Amino acid sequence: MQFDAADLSELIVLCRVEIERHCEHLGRLDSAIGDGDHGANMRRGLEAVYRERDAISALPLPAALERIGLVLVMSIGGAAGPLYGTLLMELGRGMSAGEDDEADFAAILARAIAAVARRGRSGPGDKTLLDVLYPVQAEVAGHAAPARIAECARAAAQATEMMLARRGRASYLGARSVGHEDPGASSCALLTMTICHYLKE
Ligand code: ADP
Ligand code: MG
Ligand code: MG
Repeated sequence: MQFDAADLSELIVLCRVEIERHCEHLGRLDSAIGDGDHGANMRRGLEAVYRERDAISALPLPAALERIGLVLVMSIGGAAGPLYGTLLMELGRGMSAGEDDEADFAAILARAIAAVARRGRSGPGDKTLLDVLYPVQAEVAGHAAPARIAECARAAAQATEMMLARRGRASYLGARSVGHEDPGASSCALLTMTICHYLKE
């Protein structure tokens, strides 16, 4: 599909609304296994991107993604800021390096996720947002339809409930982290679902 500046601007608006709607929920998830601020952190991040959306969507898409990443790093704070920031900045850098057809996008996404993993020194099964990103990338690489990618993201976030946290604050709880969905995985699924829903229309 063609993805232009108006699409990006509208997606920013939609993502901000969804994070706002789920802010308390994300906070409750983080209260159970962290410090309770994930909803507020994400809201601050999306508010900052929202305020800059006109300037952001005036940029070519790769530069716009990089800029969003930078704004997220500066505004989210906490552990999630540098991780979401790295994801978006690396996506932007990867896209400016080559063409962005679908096969390339899956490879660019894989590299951006690998950069997030390096940044967090984390990997699959550690009960983090990566546990949503990896399966989503696999669906993208398999040319899945947006609705299927959205469902995959939702299920992947839910599946973190039974995982033992090995990274971030939740890891301090050890076995007591089991039985709670990871807040970062939850916000990541929420944003993925919002994007997929938009792309489906
Ligand atoms: P903080 O823990 O600093 O309060 P947030 O509450 O905003 O930050 O974000 C917590 C989320 O960040 C976790 O739920 C997890 O998904 C993610 N996270 C934390 N540490 C790591 C890490 N080392 N690698 C990957 N993801 C992480
Ligand atoms: Mg927190
Ligand atoms: Mg915190």
